[in-house]
Formats: sequence, structure tokens, C-alpha cells
Amino acid sequence: MDRKTRNELQAAIEEQIEAVSRELAEMQERAKTVDLDQPIGRLSRMDSLTNQGILLSSVTKAKTRLARLKQVLKNIDGQEYGLCRECGEEIGIQRLKALPESELCIDCAQ
Ligand SMILES: [Zn+2]
Repeated sequence: MDRKTRNELQAAIEEQIEAVSRELAEMQERAKTVDLDQPIGRLSRMDSLTNQGILLSSVTKAKTRLARLKQVLKNIDGQEYGLCRECGEEIGIQRLKALPESELCIDCAQ
């Protein structure tokens, strides 16, 4: 991978870290406003519990992605970055830009 490509990828990763951080903050804000002690009907209470569950699992997913993106940003200068963990071939640049934390090339991922 050449310097220019690495720089482009680094910019893409930083952008995605920012986007996911924003999303995460929004979700955490929303999770706070779901008040389970509100005297609401049984059905809507179950609804809000379900929504709360979905929200919390999205928060967990976003946190995991954020941690992986930060890890990738740290390792981007390493020899291994951009190589498929399975076959050792280079992972396509378009794939890396969309999903910088990819460890598999498109063929191995399928
Ligand atoms: Zn592969």
C-alpha cells in the first residue's frame, strides 16, 4: 500500500470515528430519556422495554466498532494492515475505505 492510499484511508477512518462517536452520543442521550418508571400502560411499557433493548444493543455495537476503528488507526502504518487474514492478499481499497476494520478480502469474507 503506498503512502497516498494510506493517507486516504487514514482520513476515511478518522471520518468514520467521528461519525460513529456522534451516533453513539445521540443514542446514549436517547437511552437516558427512556424513563421506565413512568406510569404507562403495560403494552407501551413493554414497547419501551423493547426499544430500550434495541437501543442498548446498538450502543454496544457502536462502541465495539469505535474501538476497532481506533485500533485500525493505530495499526495503519503496520505491515499487516490491508492484508487479508485468510489468504494474505491485499484487501481492495474500496472495501477498506467503506469498512476500514476489514480483516478479510471480499472473496474470503463471502
Ligand atoms: Zn482473502
